[in-house]
Amino acid sequence: MSNPDLSVIIPVYNEEEGLQTLFDRLYPALDALQRPYEVVFINDGSTDRSAALLRRQFEKRPGDTRIVFLKGNYGQHMAIVAGFEQARGDRIVTLDADLQNPPEEIGKLLAAMDAGYDYVGTIRQNRQDSTWRRWASRLMNRLRERITRIQMTDQGCMLRAYDRKIVRAIASCNEVNTFIPALAHTFSSNPTEVEVKHEERAVGQSKYSLYSLVRLNFDLVTGFSVMPLQLFSLLGMVLSLLSGLFVVYLFIRRLIVGPEAEGLFTLFAITFFLISILLFGIGLLGEYVGRIYQQVRGRPRFLIEAILEAPPGNNPHSGETPQG
Ligand code: UDP
Ligand code: MG
Repeated sequence: MSNPDLSVIIPVYNEEEGLQTLFDRLYPALDALQRPYEVVFINDGSTDRSAALLRRQFEKRPGDTRIVFLKGNYGQHMAIVAGFEQARGDRIVTLDADLQNPPEEIGKLLAAMDAGYDYVGTIRQNRQDSTWRRWASRLMNRLRERITRIQMTDQGCMLRAYDRKIVRAIASCNEVNTFIPALAHTFSSNPTEVEVKHEERAVGQSKYSLYSLVRLNFDLVTGFSVMPLQLFSLLGMVLSLLSGLFVVYLFIRRLIVGPEAEGLFTLFAITFFLISILLFGIGLLGEYVGRIYQQVRGRPRFLIEAILEAPPGNNPHSGETPQG
């Protein structure tokens, strides 16, 4: 059975409102590339009609559509890993289901791969997201740049292209918590970036709450660097030195001036400050330890309920019969 040139991996979580528009734009855009392709949708435990819509689309285009149904909601990055495990293409492109990244841009990424790059990242032109999200991403991009060696302009955009070797390496990683663009970057020998258009989410809502964004960014930070922990030991050294000096000062002062009850609130302020740093440190440690715990339990990262695909022999074709 011959492999398609291209696998497009799309995680889907409660996207019923937008899926039909996605199909209507995605398949013609891929047909226009004139290469054999497959689209792998991963239903990440949707609770709306997404699963039914995906099934219907499979019936329309069984030759170049495959659907992986996960047993629960494992998150965007795990869903993509599930897709990576199934992908048969020589090149793999990830895309969001919400059309914020136009599928018409895929050709641009493939052109960069034709030029010899094994990983094509993307930079969103005029990113269409809320101001606070743009601001928070910029901050996280900077932080990541400082604490890891990963060079990316825009880590959050999921329209990306990967060589099959990189995808194989990611699929074999067994990481429970991961951040795909960064992981791919560490496996890439010749990465590049291209600019792509970005659109507002037309329908449905972002699946990321503030809380899950914070969690995701901890995955990025803890997954690729231990520098935060190391900074903590440095900070601990500096602070204990300073507070040591302070104790000496207070002691000498007591010998010279005598006992004092004033300045109590200043002492409280200093104590609260130190306690908050301590709490943050324990929390940070917890982020690492929690992940180690999840990892050593060795449970499956996700469970697959079913895979919908054409029986072997029915090769993915280049879509000469555009009906969907
Ligand atoms: N997604 C997923 N599982 C989740 C959350 C999101 O598969 O638990 C999918 C979602 O359906 C979409 C993509 O990941 O295709 C990106 O999600 P979203 O557009 O909500 O993220 P944002 O653009 O706000 O970062
Ligand atoms: Mg989106």
